[in-house]
Amino acid sequence: MTKKYSLHLAIFSCLLLLQCKPVKETVQLPEIIDKPIVFDKTRKQLSLEYLRDRYGLERETPTIIPRMIVLHWTVIPTLEEAFEAFNPPTLPNWRPDIKDVSGLNVSSQFMVDRDGSIYRLLPETTMARHVIGLNHCAIGIENVGGTEALPLTEAQLKSNIELVKYLADKYAIDYLIGHYEYTYFENHPLWLEKDKGYRTQKTDPGEDFMGKVRRATKNLNFAPVPKKPITP
Ligand SMILES: [Zn+2]
Repeated sequence: MTKKYSLHLAIFSCLLLLQCKPVKETVQLPEIIDKPIVFDKTRKQLSLEYLRDRYGLERETPTIIPRMIVLHWTVIPTLEEAFEAFNPPTLPNWRPDIKDVSGLNVSSQFMVDRDGSIYRLLPETTMARHVIGLNHCAIGIENVGGTEALPLTEAQLKSNIELVKYLADKYAIDYLIGHYEYTYFENHPLWLEKDKGYRTQKTDPGEDFMGKVRRATKNLNFAPVPKKPITP
């Protein structure tokens, strides 16, 4: 084989390799501002107890294996007030003497302000209490507002879409749901809540908002939400 010929062959092989390389859509990294809520010994302990008592999961650390993203609205009108609601480790009216009721305060891993700014309140794989039955596998995104007077904004929609793309690229996410859809998972293997009476009625973040985020992230091919269980 002549030198010239082998060089040609080498270049040709390289080009072929480049062409065959699977093309992966590059995900635009959203700007994320870290704004951690208190995660002290108490919150850690209560999170571990929550995983153990409600889900039967014995863990060394209160971490989650993300499989799902849950979108919410806060109803609370400002970022500062919403942050203050999540910041304390225990629920405001918690009485440690009441057994079977977890004192762990509610929170979420992300909060999106009305101008679309994205705040990360907890490490992405630390458990937050934001959705009954599924906290062990769900990353929560809260959106400030959501009332008739303060409907979610276009900027929030854009940031939610970016955040969903970013998280789906980073973790093995199967489901994207609105909080109002969480009870559809009651018979699903991911559902671990033991107390059959522990349910709340949710409407957040609204069907319209969910529909828009779903349409914009269609190519991520999330699994369909299970059908609503038929109660006998
Ligand atoms: Zn919610």
